[in-house]
Amino acid sequence: MYKIVKKEELGQDTYLMEVEAPKIAQSVLPGQFVIVKANETAERIPLTVSDTFLPDGTITLVIKAIGISTRKIVSYPVGGFFHDVVGPLGNPSAFIHRPIGMLRRSRYCFIAGGVGIAPVFPLVKWMSQHGLECDVIIGARNASLLFYIEQFRKITNNLYIATDDGSMGFKGNVTDMLTKLVKEKGRRYDEITAIGPMIMMKFVSLKAKELGIPCVVSLNSLMVDGTGMCGACRVQIGGQTKFTCVDGPEFDASLINFDECMHRQAMYDHVEGRKLLEEEELRENHQCHIGGIAHEALPPKSRVPVREQAPEVRRSNFREVCFGYNAEEAVEEARRCLTCKNPQCVNGCPVHIRIPDFISHIKDGQFDKAAELIREDTALPSVCGRVCPQEIQCEGKCVLGRKGDPVAIGKLERFIGDWSMKNHVAAHKPFERKGKKVAVVGSGPAGLTCAKELRCMGYDVTVYEALHEFGGVLVYGIPEFRLPKKDIVKPEIETIKNLGVRFESDVVIGRTMSVDDLMNKWCYDAVFIASGAGFPNFMNIEGENLCGVVSANEFLTRNNLLFSYKEHYETPNFVGKKVTVVGGGNVAMDAARTAIRLGAEVHIVYRRSEEELPARREEVHHAKEEGIDFQLLTNPVRILGDEKGWVCGMECVRMELSEPDESGRRRPVVIPGSEFVLDTDMVIMSIGTSPNPLIYTTTQGLDVNHHGCIVADEVGATSREGVFAGGDIVSGAATVILAMGAGKSAAKAIDEYLRKRQ
Ligand code: FAD
Repeated sequence: MYKIVKKEELGQDTYLMEVEAPKIAQSVLPGQFVIVKANETAERIPLTVSDTFLPDGTITLVIKAIGISTRKIVSYPVGGFFHDVVGPLGNPSAFIHRPIGMLRRSRYCFIAGGVGIAPVFPLVKWMSQHGLECDVIIGARNASLLFYIEQFRKITNNLYIATDDGSMGFKGNVTDMLTKLVKEKGRRYDEITAIGPMIMMKFVSLKAKELGIPCVVSLNSLMVDGTGMCGACRVQIGGQTKFTCVDGPEFDASLINFDECMHRQAMYDHVEGRKLLEEEELRENHQCHIGGIAHEALPPKSRVPVREQAPEVRRSNFREVCFGYNAEEAVEEARRCLTCKNPQCVNGCPVHIRIPDFISHIKDGQFDKAAELIREDTALPSVCGRVCPQEIQCEGKCVLGRKGDPVAIGKLERFIGDWSMKNHVAAHKPFERKGKKVAVVGSGPAGLTCAKELRCMGYDVTVYEALHEFGGVLVYGIPEFRLPKKDIVKPEIETIKNLGVRFESDVVIGRTMSVDDLMNKWCYDAVFIASGAGFPNFMNIEGENLCGVVSANEFLTRNNLLFSYKEHYETPNFVGKKVTVVGGGNVAMDAARTAIRLGAEVHIVYRRSEEELPARREEVHHAKEEGIDFQLLTNPVRILGDEKGWVCGMECVRMELSEPDESGRRRPVVIPGSEFVLDTDMVIMSIGTSPNPLIYTTTQGLDVNHHGCIVADEVGATSREGVFAGGDIVSGAATVILAMGAGKSAAKAIDEYLRKRQ
């Protein structure tokens, strides 16, 4: 929680708020920003840090109250607390890295418009603190919208004010003022930095070009998440797609397509407005009820059927699809297990759960023993029982599978995991403390498993998480209808907290502090990096930046982490009437099944055939049952937009499969002349994710491969002594259980490493 220590009304709907955030205050640099989430149901809002006060560990934010979320932020009183403040995020302004001698020989002009006045302030303050002269132009429609005038006067003698109506300073806009300074006063600038409304930055950029002056602008207003995980802030910079929050927020203005940026900004404004209008109607029509139970008669060699919500009912609610086994069903299914002497299922499990042993206990009705055993072997049984691709792992190796259904190991794991949570079965045996500290970066399955294992060995473990919730993909990616957050993910994490593992949210390693800080300043003996692969990929086809094109990460995060589909949660969401999801993995199925629950007609476009679909078999089956149309052997070529910049169709080609490629799957090739247009008003890109570059670009000597994955050996040791890594950040996007396996191996390796160092 982050205490508000000062609040001041600066002008019309504009407030200054000073907030206690000592870690951010220590590391923030000019040009960086934070994400503020006022309370549990609030949206994540990016705000530039306009000042810091180190002795008190406070940061100053200036907020223009324009929408539901910003109005909520400014409604908080002094003494109140914000739920989350994350940062500092984004790159600092480039000029602060230039040699002072060079800056002294140059002349900089800073132009601020409207709420852009606040982010320009720290840039000018930095100049003043370094004894550098610069010019500052600030403008607004009228004097009541201006603020910080006195503060600016204290740090610069060259402040020029422009108002459209002439109510303060020069009558005209900031570009007129710039022209006047250059043409009439003979000013020569080496660089202009402009921050403000997109339209203002566009015109400053055009003017700068006309005057032959390089211009930099800040696209901070495009940001949504701030850590690079949603891709909503993507922009075309010189023809390349960049993410504002990771590559920016400042960019060379001459390379920006401002019209496209303005369209993208409009996307959620429009949604917020529409949401307000529809609120009442939604409330009246809101209906949620769990319906019939699907029960089919099965042949004797089949597993005990599992009860599920009926497809026609579940496709309009977010409640869990599968009800799982009750005690009787679990015992009955457990009885099918042959308790093999040489159990292949254990070999098929990346964390080597003693499967026949826990199933034997279930068979005997000794649920407590089964629970103790499984909790020793895995940190997240209730999660894995729900989301692991068992058909290619443990169940894929079960001998019963040769002639019938393999034992439903996943459903039994889920049963006993849930039972152990309800009955508070201790997750570990007592341990002796080792007096050594390990930091874990990221709270996904890899980080949680490593933390649990190390804690059980006696280490002091702290998990640092960039988001405001713990769990990684388990909370932001996988939807509630597959993996309930409050009833399953949170209690699973609680069992790890109860062991004494410390958890810190809102800490972005590589920004709030670096891996080197963890080792040198905070004296950790080892670091385990488990930051996942949460950076969405795009196809780089025409039309990908139209309004209505989103990454699956963005779409799912809005719904799962920020509950945009729920009443009282403020994060806006956009859902088309005809949604097309591009991709065929679990992520694509989750996005498609989420969209159908939001009322859309949904198509999945996948370039290979059904056989190659990488998603779990159960998800494909469920998606089909729910009415999702699969356009297989189909590939998008370009996305079509209407005159307002919104998606109105997608041109596709049909494919056929030829020889296998390096992945062993048959390579899809285009059938000539097969082009057709799919009618769609929303495209969700779900074609994979890559590692976020934040950590490796800020850690000296950490080797990465050409995919940006950290290079680590089979136990997770990296090129940096004492730094280990595992999960998706090493393997690239994979599975929960593989990430857990990597966390478990790394814990052992860290233990060995620390023992040797004693
Ligand atoms: P993650 O789960 O990605 O966790 C990484 C964590 O690190 C995140 O919380 C992130 O915020 C944090 N982080 C990142 N950078 C920083 C930083 N700089 N500082 C601090 N913290 C940071 N797998 C399955 O087995 N079955 C499924 O059904 C399945 N469905 C999926 C559905 C979706 C929508 C997605 C996206 C993935 C799915 N997967 C599934 C894949 C699986 O979830 C991942 O392979 C797994 O979560 C990887 O675990 P991890 O711990 O390596 O990373």
